[in-house]
Order: sequence, then structure tokens, then C-alpha cells
Amino acid sequence: MTASILDGNALAATVRAEIAQGASALIAQGVTPCLAVLLVGDNPASAVYVRNKVAACEKAGVRSLKFEYASDVAAETVFDKIAELNADPSVHGILVQLPLPKHFDENKVLEAISPAKDVDGFHAENFGLLLQGRKSFYPCTPWGVMKMLESANVPLKGAEAVVIGRSNIVGKPMAVMLLSQGATVTVCHSQTKDLAFHTRRADIVVAAVGKPKFLTGDMIKPGAVVIDVGINRLQDGPDAGKLCGDVDFDSAKEVASLITPVPGGVGPMTITMLLANTLESARRAAASR
Ligand code: NDP
Repeated sequence: MTASILDGNALAATVRAEIAQGASALIAQGVTPCLAVLLVGDNPASAVYVRNKVAACEKAGVRSLKFEYASDVAAETVFDKIAELNADPSVHGILVQLPLPKHFDENKVLEAISPAKDVDGFHAENFGLLLQGRKSFYPCTPWGVMKMLESANVPLKGAEAVVIGRSNIVGKPMAVMLLSQGATVTVCHSQTKDLAFHTRRADIVVAAVGKPKFLTGDMIKPGAVVIDVGINRLQDGPDAGKLCGDVDFDSAKEVASLITPVPGGVGPMTITMLLANTLESARRAAASR
């Protein structure tokens, strides 16, 4: 069997076109959706992510504001900017690009963002609402994965789903979202004893590990759906410098029924859901005028 490809670029283009329509309808009502992005330090990957997010905003008719700080900036300066943006009614979404330099307490920074503008869905209040199955801003990466599964009509009710990774931004919310849709969810992590035992019985495997080509074909049940969240830059070998996922695509595609590529899989959907959250926040602001 060779797996079908779940094309994140194609789905992202469709959803972004809908977002652009929604944004222009709001602009016609006098509300321009606006995302503020804060970038601290000189992490090259973060700079690329921020550039991509700003470019995606422009294409979708979402205004973006970018604030850049040196890595030794006083934490107070960043907190002051967040407070200013929280109070600014023309700003609907605030995003602080992670990771932050060591002298920042990331949780404190994320908690400083108003939950009503937390379009990354990382604030404890939004995470708590998600856990309770209530409306909130969902974290963009796992929400993008859910959209991909939905677009491919992957049955979730009663499905065995295995999530590898338990981070607050991907693994945990991913597990909660699959659970809320009726999947039976197992969350694996670095302490998991026999990872392949779990992955081999999964109908859906989501890999969010941060290790290149970690999940190989022999760890996958024939016909499973494989979602690769990983974004890793290969350090050496003939493909040095290229991006690759947490899944060994070549061996996995021979076993899976459906698989996401890297690049062109989950990544474009993450940015898409950021735009969707920003639009939703702007809609809420427009409705409460
Ligand atoms: P983290 O490093 O925060 O989490 C990695 C998780 O993998 C941890 O829970 C860790 O377990 C687990 N893990 C590590 N080693 C093993 C192992 N040998 N066996 C099983 N589990 C293991 O990463 P993130 O969740 O932030 O990101 C994961 C990947 O997704 C990265 O490649 C990142 O670049 C990518 N990413 C992609 C996005 C996109 O838009 N496509 C967005 C965000 C991230 P433990 O908790 O025990 O340490």
C-alpha cells in the first residue's frame, strides 16, 4: 500500500480564501482584523516563523503589527507592550513568538496576554476552557490537525489515536481535541516503555516529538493515518539544511493509508488557524461594539 498524501498547502489555501472573505466583510463593517506579533531575540527559526505569519496576514487582509526586541531587552519593556496591546481596541490578536530568551518566564509572558486576544490559545484560561469542552481559542497546531482530519473524513469516534509528545502547545491539546471528538487517546512521551506497542495498534498516530524521522514504517499499523507535526532541520548528510518531520516518510508511506508531508503538511495549517483565531477575535470585537 502507498499512502495518499494529506496536502496541508491545498487545504490551507481553501481555508485562507474563506478567511480573506470573512476579513473583507468585517473591513466593510469598519473593523480591520489585526494581529500583533512580538519577536524577542535573534533565533533564526523564530524570525522565519514570524515573517511567514506576517506575510500570511497580509495575503488574507489581516493587518499585522510587528514588534522586535533584542535578546537582552528588559522583561518589563515586553510586559508594557503587551499591556498596551491588551488595551488597544484595534488589536484583536497578540502573539509572542516562542522560545523567549532565558531571563523570561514564558508562562508569565503568556499569562500577561488578555485571554480575549490570545490567538495562539496558550493562555491557561483558554487551555482550561478547551479541557472542559467549552469555547475558547484553540492552539493553532492541533486545531490545524483536526481540520486536516476532518477534511479527509477520517473517522474519529471510537478510533484508537496515539499522540507522541505531551507539550503544552502540541501534544496535550492534541490529545484533548481527539478525545473530545470521541477517539480513544493514548499519549506517549519520553518515559513511555514500549512506544511501538502503542503506535502499532493506532488508527491515527500524531507525531510531535522534535526528532527527525523518529516514527518509522515498522511502528505503524497497516492502513493507519499518520500526522507529522515535526519540523526539524537536518544537520548533516546529503540533505543537510533541508526540513524533515518526525516521521520517516519513505517507510511510513508504504504502510499508512494517509500521511502528511513535511514541508507542506501541518505547518501551513498552523498559520491558517492563527488567522482563523484572529478573525474570530475581530468578529467578537465587532459584535460587542
Ligand atoms: P517539545 O520538545 O516541547 O516536546 C516533545 C515531546 O516529545 C515531549 O513530550 C517529549 O517527552 C517527547 N519525546 C521526546 N523524546 C521522545 C521519545 N524518545 N519517545 C517518545 N516521546 C519523546 O516539542 P513541541 O511539542 O513543541 O514540538 C514537537 C515538534 O513539532 C517539533 O519538531 C516542533 O518543531 C514541531 N512543531 C511544529 C509546529 C507546526 O506548525 N507544524 C508547531 C509547533 C511545533 P517528555 O515530555 O517526556 O520530555
